[in-house]
Formats: sequence, structure tokens, C-alpha cells
Amino acid sequence: MKITRLETIYLPDYPSILFVAVHTDAGLVGYADTCYMPDAVAGFIHQFAAPMLVGHDPLAIELHWRRLYEVIAHIVGKGAELRALSALDVCLWDILGQAANMPVWQVLGGAVRDRIRTYNTCGGPNYGRAAKGSVGYGTLDAHGKYEDLIAFMERPDELAFELLSEGFTGMKLWPFDYVAHYPGTGWDNWRSFRGMFEPNLRSLGGHDISAADLNRALVPFRKIREVAGDRMEIMVEGHGLWSLPAALKIARALEEFQPAWLEDLMRADDIDALAELRRGTTCPILASEYLATRYEYKPLLEKQAADIVMIDPTWAGGITECKKVCAMAEVYKRPVAMHDCTGPFTLYAGIHLALNAPNAIYQESVRAYMRVNYPDLVTELPVMEAGHFLAPTKPGLGTTLLPDVRTREGAVVRESR
Ligand SMILES: [Mg+2]
Repeated sequence: MKITRLETIYLPDYPSILFVAVHTDAGLVGYADTCYMPDAVAGFIHQFAAPMLVGHDPLAIELHWRRLYEVIAHIVGKGAELRALSALDVCLWDILGQAANMPVWQVLGGAVRDRIRTYNTCGGPNYGRAAKGSVGYGTLDAHGKYEDLIAFMERPDELAFELLSEGFTGMKLWPFDYVAHYPGTGWDNWRSFRGMFEPNLRSLGGHDISAADLNRALVPFRKIREVAGDRMEIMVEGHGLWSLPAALKIARALEEFQPAWLEDLMRADDIDALAELRRGTTCPILASEYLATRYEYKPLLEKQAADIVMIDPTWAGGITECKKVCAMAEVYKRPVAMHDCTGPFTLYAGIHLALNAPNAIYQESVRAYMRVNYPDLVTELPVMEAGHFLAPTKPGLGTTLLPDVRTREGAVVRESR
């Protein structure tokens, strides 16, 4: 079998995402997506990766990873280039599964469980796909169902009850963000946080948080605990916005609510500061979807800077690399949680990894994406039952791009042969 062409597909309705397809002379097509700066990702795929992959055996996955990574490391290309490598790698695993007539979890070495627990990340359908530069929370034109960001700010108790009744036993929210954003950046679109908060024109950019702001942001946690007790796990998202003293204030204030984890209260660019945060609170610290490859997760583990390791398969290096990061985390007795707040193929890649990795504890999902966005993009969706994703049964990843996607208005389809 040989790779015949690489294809990238961009849809204006999903401006952050790039869909990637690897075609073979056997007729098998592997799919993936990756998120952020799709033009840059496509540029690497067509200029650099295509000459290295077209005409080669798609099943030599490890070799392709190494060859592409060496180019990337040489040009210090840890951003869009690595996301391109990640997506291409996921495509190759999809092809391998289809060639073997087995789901990816099977060719990874089998499943250690028949389902993986999920939680609802409380964003709306437009969360993460704002029109320009991915700025804002996608709530400015909010209408209709599954506006879970507005819900966790305005009626967290009702939302928790609704999620529990759907079988979810975990929910992730980020009520501290509003304090951290500088005014005038586009992120301070207060309709995201309407209802509870006044515009915070005194923002110190995440370098401090006042007692008043802190206490206002604790309200959702109090209300969720009142209605759900300990039946609902609460994950706290920080989006890397805080300095260490502010993060410590937030962490200590949250201790009474026993959150499942505090995620990226600080950017993971200073592992020592992260370790200090971890030592300063009883809340479990999770890090980080912002890290990529074994080489960036190594210091996180060595310095014991996180309790739980978050991995995104289409950012951190694809399925090949993420399996290794899972194994590294296992050595340090750390559980892993798979990230997806982006695209349907990333979700599938994470599910397969989480079924195979002994130390996986969660696959993230966004019910707004599962019910509004992903059905608009792919043929199959993973089956969810009582707050878990069941193991996909089809060969490969188990889903494919809808046939009409390439001909939609404004779609940009590029290919390299
Ligand atoms: Mg996150």
C-alpha cells in the first residue's frame, strides 16, 4: 500500500479547525482534524510533509513520525508543524485500523476497558469557533440549546441537575476567567458572563484576584454542590490565565468544594511554578493540553508538578506520541485525561487511546459539540451511555467526513499528490 495524496479541508463555519485526509492506492482514506491556525497547518502539510509521505507505505507509522519530527525539531517548529504531524499520524492509525479491519484501540494492543468515563465541558456550540482569531467565548450570538457556558454562570444548579439526569457525573467550568482578561482584548465580551457579574474594568490580567471577585466566582460551585451533592465531579478550567499567587488564592478557596481537578490555572511554561502551586493546595492539579511530545511532559512528571496529566492527541504528537506519554505518566503513577474541545476525529483518537491506556481516567467531551457541531461534520458519533463512551466497533477510528463537506460554500480543499 502507498500514500497517493494528502488533502486538507477548511470550512468557514469552523474557522479554527483543519480536516486532514491521507489517501492510499488501496482506496483506504485516513482522517483527522486539528485545531488552531489551519492555514499554517495546511502550509506545513503541503510544503513539507507531502514530499516526505506521498509514495510511501502508510503503515510505517513510527518511521514517518520520526522523520517528520526531525524536520520539525530542526526548524524549532513546535506549533502548527507539530499539530500537522499530529493530524497526519492520526490519519495513518485510521488507515492501519481499516487495513486490519479492527478498531484503533485493538491495533494499539487492545482495550483494558469497554468504555471510558466522560464529563461535560460546559461551552456552547460556538465556543472555540468565534469568527476572528478565536477570540471570545462564542456566546455573543448565543441562542437555542446547549448554551452551557451561559448556564453555568446564570443557573449552575439547573445545569448540574440536567446533566445528572442525562447520566453525566462530571462537569467543567471556568467562572474565574472574567476577572483575568484585560479590557479591550475581545475576550472581555461580558455577555459571556452576563447575569452574575459586572464588567471588570479593573482587571489586572490574572496577576491578582480580589476577595469580592473570588467570592462571586465561587457561587456556581456552591449552587452545584447544593443541588448535586457529591454526585457531580467538578472540573475547574483556568485557561492558563493566572500568576502563581492568584492561582494559589483560587485553589485554596476551592478546596472546600473538593473539585476533581484544577486545570491549567497557570500556563505550563514554568514547571517549577506549577510544582509550587501543587504543593500549596490540596486540590488535584491537572496539566496540560498546552504541552506537546514526551520531551515537554518529561519535566512535568520528573518535578511532580501535576497530579493528573492532560493530553490532546492532535496537538501533542498524534496517537503514536500520546501512547508513549501515557506510558511515561504511568511510570510516575499519574492518571491521564484526554482532551477534546475541538473536532470529532480528535475525540475519536482520544477515546481509542483512553480505552487502551491503563491509566486513562477520562475522555473530555462537549455535549454542545456532540449534538450540534459534530453531526454536521462526520458520519458516526461515539455512543455515550450513562456518562461513558462505549468502545467504537468499526474499523479504524470509526467515523468519516460527511460526503458533502468538500462542496460546501466557502470550503477550501487543497491536495498534494
Ligand atoms: Mg483545558
